[in-house]
Amino acid sequence: MTDQTAAPTMPADVSPPVVTGTPREIAEGVYVIPDGRVPLVPNIGIILGARAALVVDTGFGPRSGANVRAAARELAGDRQLLVTLTHFHPEHGFGAQAFTDATLLYNRAQHEEFHQKAPGYLEQFRGFSKDAARELEGVEFVDPQIVYDEGCDVDLGGRLVQLRSRGPAHSRGDQTIFLPAERILFAGDLVEDRFLPLFPYFPPYDVDVDGQRWMEVLDELKEMQPEIVVAGHGELGGTELIDAYHTYIQWLESETLRLSGEGKTPEEIISTLTPLVFERYADWDLEPWRVATAVQSFLARTTPA
Ligand SMILES: [Zn+2]
Repeated sequence: MTDQTAAPTMPADVSPPVVTGTPREIAEGVYVIPDGRVPLVPNIGIILGARAALVVDTGFGPRSGANVRAAARELAGDRQLLVTLTHFHPEHGFGAQAFTDATLLYNRAQHEEFHQKAPGYLEQFRGFSKDAARELEGVEFVDPQIVYDEGCDVDLGGRLVQLRSRGPAHSRGDQTIFLPAERILFAGDLVEDRFLPLFPYFPPYDVDVDGQRWMEVLDELKEMQPEIVVAGHGELGGTELIDAYHTYIQWLESETLRLSGEGKTPEEIISTLTPLVFERYADWDLEPWRVATAVQSFLARTTPA
């Protein structure tokens, strides 16, 4: 493996990966704790109904989970708390143990993927930085009380929330959370704002990312006509965030396959395309390994093993 394809590392001088933001009300009774573009911190959703509240994602480790739970409890009062995850990745799901007074509700594909991959991800993410290792101390894996298959509609009390299993795309168990009345979509890492799409292609322990299916999912999300898209990371936006991801994935895949067809090696393709990505997406936060893993995943899906 070249440097560009090595496992991701985090810069040492960034803010600790802890959810600390103040919930911001994006529609009546719908809150987001913004990520502040801090690595390993996701956007968190807190959705209130008349009798229950749904938390979307938990943050990275027990401390973030406890902070999210406290924020949710303050907003929800004595409503029943439900928790769900957009997908199992550590910064989205490894704080779930803090929700001792909540009901966890996951889609089955995600839950099975979590069981299979969480230990490997825990080891990998511990190695990112001292801060990451500290936040993952004491992580315990907890199982949801409720598991659904394809889709699940939840009435929080005068507020309908639609949970849908979408993977395999960014992960095998991707789940979207949609408020049909308010047209608010929590997309997880299927859509990020001004970060390159993350293809977690980490053979041998994770090769499930599927760029083709990811583009199909983005088409499905666009058809839902969301007015607000809460990205997994970065600012909130509209369907332009979905379009930007579709354009990027389609372009990078077609360029990868074109260069591969010309006989270029994976290393040559990565070193050709990375500077082009950095030029085209100069106003995004750019990490070369996100290009490399995407290219490797496209090649793996078109090259016989
Ligand atoms: Zn993710």
